[in-house]
Amino acid sequence: MIFFIDLFVSLAMINHRLLRPNQPILRGRSLLSLKYNPNPRRAIFLDRDGIINRKLPEDHYVRTPSEFEILPDVAPALAIMRDLGFTLVVVTNQRGIARGMMTEDDLNKVHQFMNSLLTRSGVELQSIYYCPHDKDDCCECRKPAPGMILAAAKDLGLDLGASYMVGDSASDIEAGRNAGVKSVRISSDPGDIETELVFPSLLDFARRLADLERSLPQPTI
Ligand SMILES: [Mg+2]
Ligand SMILES: [Zn+2]
Repeated sequence: MIFFIDLFVSLAMINHRLLRPNQPILRGRSLLSLKYNPNPRRAIFLDRDGIINRKLPEDHYVRTPSEFEILPDVAPALAIMRDLGFTLVVVTNQRGIARGMMTEDDLNKVHQFMNSLLTRSGVELQSIYYCPHDKDDCCECRKPAPGMILAAAKDLGLDLGASYMVGDSASDIEAGRNAGVKSVRISSDPGDIETELVFPSLLDFARRLADLERSLPQPTI
């Protein structure tokens, strides 16, 4: 019986190799590992306010599309990331919902508008995760908790070790750390927040990623 299971798995893997000739043949995996994703994708998790759109003053929330102002060079930055093979996922705290200042329906309309702006510029987000809770709700999703990143990784089959979290606040940096991704801060004033990487804009970070990619040794087949 075990032999036939192994044979089945081996055939499945060989078949996989035929479909994707650059993948190594994987041996000795149990049936359980059929759940294993042989080609996990790397992602860039993006904070929303202050990274994709202009942040409103403290205690103000983007409640309508007219209050959503996309930042310059966001679309070209995302296009570079997409072309490098990164899956683009927004992870955003929206406690204005818990505070009764906006509804989830309002937020969805804002996100539809954001998607339409980006699509018009030729880039597409894979997914948007938001936390509607307040600070005291003790949920697992509000950054700095890693819940949204971990949920996206599970839903989309993402390789966290090869992924980045990009944000403009300490809670973004911490959420990235808590999820096991590399944290990147976008800021013209590095301040005193400890982070691995600081860039003045999303486009600067995207260009740096592209440079890094070019300098890496290419795999031989
Ligand atoms: Mg932010
Ligand atoms: Zn939450």
